[in-house]
Amino acid sequence: MEGPVCQVAWGCYVLLAISIGAHCAMSSDNLACPSTSDLRTQPVAALDKEGIGPAMTSIPMIACSTSLSEHHSGGSGTNKNKQMVEQLQRYGVISSKKVVEVMETIDRALFVPDGTPAYVDSPMAIGYNATISAPHMHATCLQLLEENLQPGMHALDVGSGTGYLTACFATMVGPQGRAIGVEHIPELVASSIKNIEKSAAVSPLKGGSLSVHAGDGREGWPEHAPYDAIHVGAAAPEIPQPLIDQLKPGGRMVIPVGKIFQDLQVVDKNLDGSVSIRSETAVRYVPLTSRDAQLKGY
Ligand code: SAH
Repeated sequence: MEGPVCQVAWGCYVLLAISIGAHCAMSSDNLACPSTSDLRTQPVAALDKEGIGPAMTSIPMIACSTSLSEHHSGGSGTNKNKQMVEQLQRYGVISSKKVVEVMETIDRALFVPDGTPAYVDSPMAIGYNATISAPHMHATCLQLLEENLQPGMHALDVGSGTGYLTACFATMVGPQGRAIGVEHIPELVASSIKNIEKSAAVSPLKGGSLSVHAGDGREGWPEHAPYDAIHVGAAAPEIPQPLIDQLKPGGRMVIPVGKIFQDLQVVDKNLDGSVSIRSETAVRYVPLTSRDAQLKGY
């Protein structure tokens, strides 16, 4: 799907979002026009809270893109990252001071492929039929998990992709805590470690409180369980039992669940070990699946 057809597809997202009054204001000027494969795999498009229908909720961000080279040449990337976070606050996506702080600290431009617009509120292709989630989805998940990302706590990021959220988690839980990323594409594990090395989360990486591992995230990462916070960055047909088992009593998991129609579910493990589940919002993520299925295009 190219050119005008692509624009029509994006136009539909825009119209849908306007017609259902999605909670974020939008500007089609700032929407990136992704490639065919992006459209198939990337729509981490938040739906409206009532679940009426799909809509790309996109915040008018920074009109132009910033490449890594721009970032390194003048430091302007840091300001643009700050402006992106300000926009997310202005449009009501972020209300938490801690989430503002961490998103200002971890510059998104260091995690997107070179030449990709870093501060546009849209998911971006990162190769291997995967995407980096849109800034508003990162913000939403950080905010839902905030209480479970206190200093000293343990956090697991399943489907860690670029490593952006793993870096945020490590920054929030601090050197006494533990942030683990699990990603099943080894090349993404390697590139995420390089991304983290360039970012403000380099010290937890070097200090050992942040690590990223190649593996099937549906099995969790038992070595550092139980976890106060689990984030899953890909949609599971149903919640994997090992992830529930590895959640600490008092812990919280945020996970997109479903195939075509997906909900971002918030799973709280109560102190007696029982589990409460609620749907936060309708979403569309790439699937939590086998590596083979993902590389074949699902
Ligand atoms: N949250 C990340 C990536 C989101 S895309 C970011 O924003 O950068 C979802 C990621 O989940 C992809 O990187 C994909 O490779 C990974 N994934 C899908 N199924 C998986 C599985 N079974 N185990 C581990 N990772 C998986």
